[in-house]
Amino acid sequence: MCDNLLKDITACKEVVWVNPKKKSFSEVKDNLPFSYNDIVDAEKRWQRFAPLLKKLFPETENGIIESPLYKADKLKTKLEEYYSNSIDGELFLKCDNYLKVAGSVKARGGIYEVLKHAESLAIEAGLLSENDDYSVLAEDRFRKFFSEYKLAVGSTGNLGLSIGIMGSALGFKVFVHMSKDAKEWKKDILRRHGVTVIEHEADYTKAVEEGRKQAEADERMYFVDDENSKDLFLGYSVVGFRLKQQLKDMNLLKDGLRINVYLPCGVGGAPGGITFGLKHAFGDNVSCIFVEPTHAPCMLLGLLTGKYEEADVSEYGIKLETEADGLAVAKPSKLVSRFIEYLIDGIYTISDDELFKLVYMLYDSESIKAEPSAVASLKGPIVWENGSEDILHICWLTGGMLIPDDIFSNIIKRGKLLL
Ligand SMILES: *Cc1c(COP(=O)(O)O)cnc(C)c1O
Repeated sequence: MCDNLLKDITACKEVVWVNPKKKSFSEVKDNLPFSYNDIVDAEKRWQRFAPLLKKLFPETENGIIESPLYKADKLKTKLEEYYSNSIDGELFLKCDNYLKVAGSVKARGGIYEVLKHAESLAIEAGLLSENDDYSVLAEDRFRKFFSEYKLAVGSTGNLGLSIGIMGSALGFKVFVHMSKDAKEWKKDILRRHGVTVIEHEADYTKAVEEGRKQAEADERMYFVDDENSKDLFLGYSVVGFRLKQQLKDMNLLKDGLRINVYLPCGVGGAPGGITFGLKHAFGDNVSCIFVEPTHAPCMLLGLLTGKYEEADVSEYGIKLETEADGLAVAKPSKLVSRFIEYLIDGIYTISDDELFKLVYMLYDSESIKAEPSAVASLKGPIVWENGSEDILHICWLTGGMLIPDDIFSNIIKRGKLLL
């Protein structure tokens, strides 16, 4: 059975894979590398930092970085018409494209990890205790303290933005190793924040490796490891209970409610952490479905072949070429790929042409600005079979707010032409 599927994947066709290894959450919950308490601990840390974030980024909701949940009726109609397929249930968008500070889902994991590292340094130095008002961290004496330390990260763009913007706001010297897929405008924003951008002619895996190497040689340099970081993962995870509260506030939460969540996947950290959080909040009532570009299906290959982090798309003859820079990853995260197969319902892939069309359709119908990587989730309600009419589809829009207008209008033009 898998042979045909593997053939289609290596031919870069769009595929839908239903995961045969998924288990009920109660069966796996106690055998995961993280627990409910880790989510609680992360949420408490976000709360401790709220007074600081409020001060540094007044545009946040009193220092809490969270995104709206938006009901997209017009987009739903548009998708149904274009794909000649009806969507049972309601369509919602989780608008991480509008997350404050970093403009993408990385505002969850990336910023959390920078804050946690800053907290540890300040506590170790005897300058801070957990009961303090953390807004003191914006004072000059702390900026001076943090300027003695450095951060490094490898990124296709958005993780670099979140680490760079947050790190430099605290005073850290930040070095971002960018893969060849990274967009110029993302590098420009970083340079304006005083971040050192190191450009590589190689892919994401290599950029991460270079960042890791640089940090190993410097004991004052901390490396944010997108392939293995527990802190990134937990930064993402808090959204599960926050989303539950949002649904409650919108009077949408009811007994037996079925939720399908569609999550764009690069290395797997963001969708993995979000899935973990959602499972704790909703148990088996939530189904999580990942989506990858047809030219970067690393998690799908890792799980399908049982090679996990060793699976490299190039070994299957796939050229890592996609405009979805946030998802342009050749090998999945070790941390995530090793247990996510018990939690997700499946993975589908999507071509670049579809991504451009979807950016256009979303903007045309709802005036919402998202980047190609982010709209990968919008095809979920069309391709994913579900047996329930009373279902809530949540498409995760993972980034796009910071795209400069001229670049966005080119994306829109390209999408419109393809329709
Ligand atoms: C990083 C990113 C993702 C996926 O996150 P991973 O942790 O790499 O799986 C999805 N969408 C956008 C826009 C991103 O920047």
